[in-house]
Amino acid sequence: IEKEMGRLERLNLIGEMAAGIAHEIRNPMTTVRGFLQYAKHSRTVLSPTHLDLMVAELDRANSIITEFLSLAKNKNADKKLHSLGSVVESLLPLIQAEAILSGKTVVTDIETVPEFEFDEKEIRQLILNLSMNGLEAMQAGECLKIRVYEETDAIVLAVEDEGSGIAPEIMDKLGTPFFTTKDSGTGLGLAVCYSIAVRHNAAIDIKTGNWGTIIYVRFKLNAADAVSIKQGRYDQEDCSR
Ligand code: ADP
Ligand code: MG
Repeated sequence: IEKEMGRLERLNLIGEMAAGIAHEIRNPMTTVRGFLQYAKHSRTVLSPTHLDLMVAELDRANSIITEFLSLAKNKNADKKLHSLGSVVESLLPLIQAEAILSGKTVVTDIETVPEFEFDEKEIRQLILNLSMNGLEAMQAGECLKIRVYEETDAIVLAVEDEGSGIAPEIMDKLGTPFFTTKDSGTGLGLAVCYSIAVRHNAAIDIKTGNWGTIIYVRFKLNAADAVSIKQGRYDQEDCSR
């Protein structure tokens, strides 16, 4: 329970993260400014490598702002009846295009499940964030699987990768804004997922091991099963699926 409270507090903190954001955006700005100053003083033309680095830094600042905004705004999700399977299907070409770039594959296993009310934009974002994390954890030749199925009390979205798995010591930090183990990561993907899940009465469970990772998002059908912040039951599993 202590752990669950911690996550709640972290989610609430999101509103007060101006300082974190400022820091994260100042870094890329400092880099870009440095290069420009150098070019000006030395009267040299910046090399393509430098220009690429500047573009990459600005892109990173831009994604931090975009992802942070989707954390902060949209408190009142625009919920309507939708088919979760159709949303996954509609995103598949996009996810596949991303996967192909690095020699990975994506498959889906979508059962016919009842429609339920959700904010389509937010759920698209959730699926994309989890899929991108899965792809980023995998090597060429490995396969990402997105499943939709029904349990007695929930509709489940499962994103399964064959990647590196998540180290036990960082499990606690997942979903903390700006926590990332990647050079060009924003560390906001999972934080956004957790806040979307809370707004949809969905619980996120993570199973991981040296075989890869499965992220389950369980949309509770019965309001009485309120998830509130019952987030983050983590299982470390060494066995195969
Ligand atoms: P980012 O992807 O920008 O690093 P996220 O919030 O999406 O930020 O993820 C935070 C961290 O959680 C990642 O840096 C990575 O270490 C870990 N992670 C998330 N999903 C996975 C996954 N499917 N496999 C392995 N590690 C993961
Ligand atoms: Mg991510």
